[in-house]
Amino acid sequence: MKSKLESIKGKAVREVKACTDLKELDNFRIKYLGKKGELTAILRSMGELSPGERPVVGKLVNELKDYIEDVLAKQKEMIEKTAREERLKKESLDVTVPGRKPLRGKRHPLTKTLDEIKEIFLGLGFSVVEGPEIEYAYYNFTALNIPEEHPARDLQDTFYISSAVENDDIVLRTQTSPMQIRTMERQKPPIRVIVPGKVYRSDDVDATHSPVFHQIEGLVVDKGITLGDLKGTFDLFVKQLYGEDVVTKFRPHHFPFTEPSAEIDVMCYMCKGEGCRVCKGSGWIELSGAGMVHPRVLERCGIDSREYTGWAFGMGLDRITTRKYGIEDLRLLFENDIRFLRQF
Ligand SMILES: [Zn+2]
Repeated sequence: MKSKLESIKGKAVREVKACTDLKELDNFRIKYLGKKGELTAILRSMGELSPGERPVVGKLVNELKDYIEDVLAKQKEMIEKTAREERLKKESLDVTVPGRKPLRGKRHPLTKTLDEIKEIFLGLGFSVVEGPEIEYAYYNFTALNIPEEHPARDLQDTFYISSAVENDDIVLRTQTSPMQIRTMERQKPPIRVIVPGKVYRSDDVDATHSPVFHQIEGLVVDKGITLGDLKGTFDLFVKQLYGEDVVTKFRPHHFPFTEPSAEIDVMCYMCKGEGCRVCKGSGWIELSGAGMVHPRVLERCGIDSREYTGWAFGMGLDRITTRKYGIEDLRLLFENDIRFLRQF
């Protein structure tokens, strides 16, 4: 009996060491210590032994049972420790691995220029308003004193969407100026607004032309507003946009909706008037059309032109942007090529 117990012990030790997970270990426990296990079987068969043998064998079996329970517990601990270590290894973070950089968006150069210009005018007490890109011919032309026979109304210049809706043509606005009318219809003076937005003209696409481009309109109406106010405001604006030493020059011009009208040139901010590539050697850059709001335009909006005067300007955001960033092809602004946009 003793040698049988010895051989069980040896077998049990080999088997417990071969267990690599808790399931195998549990099978091992059932095999030796379970109700139908080998040691239990021996204890059950004790009745067949002589009374003298019983306590001796009983003691040996119980010692073996304790021993097996002990090696079982030790093996269990080892398996759990190994599992814990492996889990930790899997979960561990290498803090020295370089992080993944999220793709960050950037503002489009047009938006950057517009934000800069908005900021300047907001600082001067202007507010920003926006209007519809699909517009009645009345707002785009008629109310702005542009007569029926004016070439600007021509199909060659203007995209017509439909004709004679509510007795008026519908067009894609060719300028942001219709918002002068909409603003004056809605709001009584004092008025001080800028209007940024897309405008459309029937142009072919090339490096300097696009059928869609961006304008900023400015409008001021109040009592006692003069051309001097326009000049003062514009000088302040270009100094903030281009630098303190930049000056403006007004050239007489004609627009149907302003009287008198002017083209505003700004001294080239690159060469300071010397002449360079940006200004094509002239030392000056054409910046904006402007003038005193035509009394007929004010009257049409129900504003008494004897009491109130105003000035307005309109300028192209795309040209300002391409010159500012040295972009040689206007089309790049509209293609949204990420490689191009990343540069700003
Ligand atoms: Zn220049």
